[in-house]
Amino acid sequence: MSRTPHSARKFSSALRTHLARTLGAILITLFGTCAAISANAADDEKPLRVYFIDVEGGQATLFVTPDGQTLLIDTGWPDNDGRDADRIVAVAKKAGLSRINYVLITHYHSDHVGGLPQLVARIPVDTFIDHGDNREIGEASTLQSWKAYQELLVTNKFKRITVKPGDILPILRMHATVVSSDGAVIQAPLPGAGDPNPACKQSATQPIDQTENARSLGIFITFGNLKILDLGDLTSDKEMQLMCPMNKLGKAAIYIVSHHGSPNSGSPALVHGVEPRVAVMDNSAKKGGSPSAWEIIKHSPHLEDIWQLHFSIEGGKDHNAPEEYIANPDGPDAANYLLLNGNSDGSFSIFNSRTQKTKHYSTR
Ligand SMILES: [Zn+2]
Repeated sequence: MSRTPHSARKFSSALRTHLARTLGAILITLFGTCAAISANAADDEKPLRVYFIDVEGGQATLFVTPDGQTLLIDTGWPDNDGRDADRIVAVAKKAGLSRINYVLITHYHSDHVGGLPQLVARIPVDTFIDHGDNREIGEASTLQSWKAYQELLVTNKFKRITVKPGDILPILRMHATVVSSDGAVIQAPLPGAGDPNPACKQSATQPIDQTENARSLGIFITFGNLKILDLGDLTSDKEMQLMCPMNKLGKAAIYIVSHHGSPNSGSPALVHGVEPRVAVMDNSAKKGGSPSAWEIIKHSPHLEDIWQLHFSIEGGKDHNAPEEYIANPDGPDAANYLLLNGNSDGSFSIFNSRTQKTKHYSTR
């Protein structure tokens, strides 16, 4: 019988301890990874929520990711005793939020950035995202909005990110690519895009817009298989640069109607090229919702529904969606909102807070 020398026994015991610890570490790592995977899998089943808040023909669109990160695109109008900021905060509370991580300002018109000072007085905001400085110096209301924004920036209470086309917003779980900013657009197509756009034939050359609208910060959002397009008030001259002759955006199931449905945005080249399944229009009774813009959307190939924040008086009986697709029909205004729940498999639903009814759209 051989005896293991003491030093060898000591070594083998140390080796066993080391192996046990290593195995334990591997198991802990594996367990941790599995837990992380299952947490992600659980998150994957949670929807991306998008609230379309009624700010009377301005924009205020609130995105809430499955892990609770928040992006608000624009803040509605100034004045009115903080009406629009109150409406945004009311919806944020309904969404279970106590702060907003990112406020994206598409451009410096008062129906987009005007409500910001009142908003930050009501709810904490971490970071502003914008296209850079205001370029529209001939319009008093724009200058006023820009001045108010600068006054917020100099307080140093907020981070500011200025983006250019091709940048990715720093939001987890929602891939948002900047496609237009400060008058420039992406040069290369988005992944999977780049086909010729047959709808360019229906779009005449567009006049060059010199206002802040053409400088709108536009984003293309990918949440798994679900795609959402928001271009703020981007005008048709810039749409042509994005869409003709090559469609640099590809397809998006959800089109947040550009410029509230005004005639100088939302050309066939854009709308028909993107082929949305639904369009959501942030019009008011008397702003946006023009019959010509509505007709272009209505005749988009593969369109299933148009949803509107308001009945459009100009649209009359022929150019409005059926009433169940309108958050605020003709009559007293109750600031009803629309809520889109988007799933990573590409399916989604839209809830009308007025009717309390939800329409489901399965994957295609
Ligand atoms: Zn606008």
